Amino acid sequence: MRFNTSLLHGKAIQKNPQGEILPPVSQVTAFCYESMEELEKVFQHKRMGYAYTRIGNPGIAAFEQRVCELEGGAGAVATSSGMSAVALAILNVCGSGDEIVVGSGLYGGTIDLFHDLEKLGIKVHFAKDMEASSIEPLLNEHTRLIFGELISNPAQRVMDVPVLSELAHAHGIPLIVDSTTATPVIARPLLLGADIVIHSTSKYINGGGNAIGGIIVDGGKFPWDFEKHSALAEFRKYGKMAFLLRLRTDLWENLGCCMAPANAFLNSIGADTLGLRMQRICENADALAKALDGIEDIEVNYLGLPQHPCHAYVEKELNGLGGGILNFRTGSKERAFRIINSLKYALIASNIGDLRTLVIHPASTLYIRVPREEQEAAGVYEDTVRVSVGIEDKEDLIEDFIQAIERSREEQ
Ligand SMILES: *Cc1c(COP(=O)(O)O)cnc(C)c1O
Repeated sequence: MRFNTSLLHGKAIQKNPQGEILPPVSQVTAFCYESMEELEKVFQHKRMGYAYTRIGNPGIAAFEQRVCELEGGAGAVATSSGMSAVALAILNVCGSGDEIVVGSGLYGGTIDLFHDLEKLGIKVHFAKDMEASSIEPLLNEHTRLIFGELISNPAQRVMDVPVLSELAHAHGIPLIVDSTTATPVIARPLLLGADIVIHSTSKYINGGGNAIGGIIVDGGKFPWDFEKHSALAEFRKYGKMAFLLRLRTDLWENLGCCMAPANAFLNSIGADTLGLRMQRICENADALAKALDGIEDIEVNYLGLPQHPCHAYVEKELNGLGGGILNFRTGSKERAFRIINSLKYALIASNIGDLRTLVIHPASTLYIRVPREEQEAAGVYEDTVRVSVGIEDKEDLIEDFIQAIERSREEQ
């Protein structure tokens, strides 16, 4: 089965109890049983069943299984947001006194979160980039994991997953990849050697801009060393599944980070068209980037352009696709604002992965709390415009951006 067929006919979607063609929504808080003995068995994990939606819900489980299958994982836990997915994945293996090595060029919220983790006693080393040569000197006996974004947003840097997973494994630590901007259409990091994959499902997986959510997928192959990863020690009897078991029965459950059942349903519907949307979005982004690249006073950053420093990864790791996000520098913040304000179709919104093209000035919004040097390491400058390309007709998008850029010169 190829990817688009598996989206609609994979194992995970053949299991609806009454043959429903979509996973039914169990919009309930709790589940009731015939007898107290039955409910006791559910709590003892001796009988399959659900008790309380924060701990488990069939519609949420259906969505988890689906993304797990698309990523080639061993198990997945859906979360209330992408941020809770990142936070839980890290906290599941780290505590006070531990260290982590993370890429720069990360999502603004993730950078903020890492500063919060520092306040909890976790030492965070921000590598200057995701090259193995920049990461290796930061590793030591206290390092518990390496974290990065497969295609960083908006910097558009690509992680070499096979090389970095080998480096991580040589140091006895897992590689955790935030693959939000790539999606399994572009790459499946677990199959390239990564150990845990995270998505903000709010973006491309949902695709319609109608539900916040996240997911953590565990490859189930990492050989945890319970002396080093002592946070998982209590779960050592589960061996390679210790990460998933601790996550589900401990942190995720106790911090109360479940995905809402209605959101799981919206995400399942969204996932149906993931392949089709990504193909169209990447095609449009490529055409728009190439049209803007010819303009003299605009500097375009898009993976699909041959001059991009990470362009070689498009064929090597990204299934021939350059992704749906591009950004361009305009010379000044004022000009960036003028261009954004003159666009007819692109919506000014702080999101990515919608059907509609979205634009934003990241420095004054998403990165407003991130210090200037960290902004620049993330590829965010005072004059950067970020575009999340949608599925409109590419000719309209190109005409619209070109008219807005031309007008921005006249208005000066
Ligand atoms: C949006 C985003 C997040 C955070 O996800 P939310 O669903 O907004 O909490 C994390 N990582 C990346 C790469 C993102 O784009």
